Amino acid sequence: MAKILDQFLEENLQELRGAGLYNEIDPVEGPNGPTIKVGGKDLVNLSSNNYLGLATDEGLKKLAKDAVDKYGVGAGAVRTINGTLDIHVRLEEKLAEFKGTEAAIAYQSGFNCNMAAISAVMDKNDAILSDELNHASIIDGCRLSRAKIIRVNHQNMDDLRKKAKEATESGQYNKVMYITDGVFSMDGDVANLPDAVQIAKEFDLITYVDDAHGSGVMGRGKGTVKHFGLEKEIDFQIGTLSKAIGVVGGYVAGKQQLIDWLKVRSRPFLFSTAMTPGDVAAVIGAVDKLLASDELVDKLWENGDYLKAGLKKLGFDIGNSETPITPCIIGEEKLAQQFSKRLMEEGVYAKSIVFPTVPKGTGRVRNMPTAAHTKEMLDEALAVYEKVGKELGVIG
Ligand SMILES: *Cc1c(COP(=O)(O)O)cnc(C)c1O
Repeated sequence: MAKILDQFLEENLQELRGAGLYNEIDPVEGPNGPTIKVGGKDLVNLSSNNYLGLATDEGLKKLAKDAVDKYGVGAGAVRTINGTLDIHVRLEEKLAEFKGTEAAIAYQSGFNCNMAAISAVMDKNDAILSDELNHASIIDGCRLSRAKIIRVNHQNMDDLRKKAKEATESGQYNKVMYITDGVFSMDGDVANLPDAVQIAKEFDLITYVDDAHGSGVMGRGKGTVKHFGLEKEIDFQIGTLSKAIGVVGGYVAGKQQLIDWLKVRSRPFLFSTAMTPGDVAAVIGAVDKLLASDELVDKLWENGDYLKAGLKKLGFDIGNSETPITPCIIGEEKLAQQFSKRLMEEGVYAKSIVFPTVPKGTGRVRNMPTAAHTKEMLDEALAVYEKVGKELGVIG
């Protein structure tokens, strides 16, 4: 064992622990539903991305079990060897239908998908205009491509236009791409896609929207691009199958030619084993459910609105969310962490999010209501919020 590694780990872990920044992970002792069991205690769960409650859906569980019986537990190979099962093909047709595009390609995760898709198209002679609050997987995907990364001030369309103009007029780059989250997960704000598309047209930018938090939520569940009616304008629609869809995986939806290219040039597709049959079958079932009915999406928004109204009435600062994501902005980092800890002791699981994930002084507890919560659960959470809020002097 290398001494240099021991020394590296010891120093860095000590520094993190000393600063109170080492994240201890709580194992959940059962399903990740609207309530969860942690440390033997049942808690109202406001921390998952399981927006529609599909992670524990009985019908989807059955579909996954049947697929395991038919195909086994693993796909057995990468997609290009013989890991492409007929259900992978069905899944991709279904995802294209869901997103209103010609075609789609599935990956093993949303994170993987950003690693795959950006670097398959962009290279060191290109530039990427990237919103400063984009998800870590977008940032890593951009870095992997070796394109010049140009940060754009968050949701600032003047800044985007200025930098798009500079980049295209400089003559330094072959291609320029604009990349944004569809819904930003820390504040719950929605990307200004109509204006971004106008700017993209003006400067012939490639457009890339990662709608991990928008799919299943915006546009009657079909996503943020559909919400704005821009299916024909956005080049890459990225989605995850791990959040509202409730399973695991990721995808790109777009034109047939784009998907054809990704199938021969995106490395996680070529060199990492395909999604498992059980996952694929459950995802197909989940998308079918969303195509058939708006009921779960409506319930999600109703619950989101209810929680927001309740917190606001109690006097909390809930920021500018336009989606069910409900931040409760506490301010000072230590206080936000203490708030979350007290919520948990009182029966509510909602995690604090602090600098550097969000700006200094805007430490918050983020609440993710889902379609699976009952009014009683949300009322219970609000009562705990009131108690802890008064106790810690966050509300009067
Ligand atoms: C969560 C998230 C991902 C990662 O998705 P996984 O399927 O969990 O790997 C990618 N992009 C964005 C914007 C996300 O919020």
